This record gives sequence, C-alpha cells and structure tokens, in this order.
Amino acid sequence: MEDLSKWNKIGVMGGTFNPIHTGHLLLAQWAMEEAGLNGILFMPTGNSYMKDKGEMLPGSERLAMTRLAVADRDCFACSDLEVRRGGNTYTYETLEALQNMYPQAHLYFILGADCLFSIENWYCPEKIFRSCVLLAASRNGMPMNKLETKRQELEERYDARILLMAFPNLEISSTDIRYRCREGRSIRYLVPEPVREYIFQNHYYENP
Ligand code: ATP
Ligand code: MG
Repeated sequence: MEDLSKWNKIGVMGGTFNPIHTGHLLLAQWAMEEAGLNGILFMPTGNSYMKDKGEMLPGSERLAMTRLAVADRDCFACSDLEVRRGGNTYTYETLEALQNMYPQAHLYFILGADCLFSIENWYCPEKIFRSCVLLAASRNGMPMNKLETKRQELEERYDARILLMAFPNLEISSTDIRYRCREGRSIRYLVPEPVREYIFQNHYYENP
C-alpha cells in the first residue's frame, strides 16, 4: 500500500466495487475538492455480509479492478486491508486500523445517499461516527432536504459529524454494469478502460 503518512486529510471510499465504475471515481474526485482532502483511499470490502453472494466476485478480483482504476492517479490509492482481513467487513474496524496506521490523519468516510440511510444498520454505527467525518453525496435524485433531515437526525442521535455534498445524478451502478455484461451490451465509459478490458478478458458477469 502507498505511504499515506504525509496526508493529513484522508478520504476513505468504501464499497464492494463489483465492479468499480466512473460514478465511484467522480464521487472521490468531488469529495476531494469539496473537503480539501489530500487524497482518497479506495477500500474494497472483504466478504460483505449485507450483499447477495450470487454475483459477487471474490475480494482479490474486485481489488485487482480497483487497483487498475486508480493506477494513473497519485492522489488515489487502494487498500487491501478489508480483502486481506477476510470474513465480514466492519467499517469501524477499518477506520480504527487506519487511524492507528496514520495517527496524523483526519479521516473522511465518503458515501452515497443510499448508504447514509442504511448506515445505522451497519455494525457499531456509533463507533463509525466517532472515528470519522462522513461525506455524504446525493444519489438517484434524492432531494437535499431529505438528506438534510437525515443528517440532523444522525447528528443528534450519535453526535455524528456529517458533510453533505450535492452530486450530479449519474445513473451508474455496479448492478447495471453487471446487467449489461450479462446482456452482452457495452460498458465502455461506465468503467475506466483498463477495467473494461480486464472484465472482458476474464468473462466476468457474463453468466448469472
Ligand atoms: P451495487 O449496485 O452493486 O450496489 P454500487 O454502484 O451501489 O453497486 P457500491 O460499491 O455498492 O456501488 O458503492 C460504494 C459507494 O459508492 C456507496 O457509498 C455508494 O452510495 C456510492 N455510489 C456508487 N455509485 C454512486 C453514484 N452513481 N452516485 C453517488 N454515489 C454512488
Ligand atoms: Mg450499492
């Protein structure tokens, strides 16, 4: 993993990245500018206990695609922490581990609106809120006032620190990309070109 010890504001972009797509990368870029972060650490999940196992590629494969996606960018790095840990992924453990590795850093956990609305069901949400600032982006046209209400609720209940970010509505999701692969349709420009080539060469997502 890259040496992030010089970064004092680290964005952490967690996801299954099955596969990583342009929406993730643009979100990272926006978050970096919005919050003045030094860079973004992409963190593919290990075994996600909350996701359907059927179409889920192994962590090593999702990690490989994520590495390809960020290879051309000095301020984007990729971590194998969760994939290497194996077993269930607990975001609070990851944040605590990162804080120990980079004691100088303030951590900003980046997520889309869908995740802001489910984060209370994640494992030990109070520990997540304690260990980072959340940077939450709108998604799928969710109105900012709904996000604002959720933010206030979480701040009151958990003393959470949450920054909201207006983000353009991109109808891009890994689910749709997997669907397109199954249907033999193009995923060009939805994922970085090296990722598209890798998916094509390995015949990923072609069969349900
Ligand atoms: P899937 O369809 O398999 O759930 P996904 O596209 O939602 O995939 P994830 O890996 O689940 O991708 O998401 C990682 C993070 O990126 C989440 O916080 C999610 O909200 C955010 N995200 C993904 N796509 C977008 C998008 N188009 N706009 C805003 N946020 C997004
Ligand atoms: Mg998702």
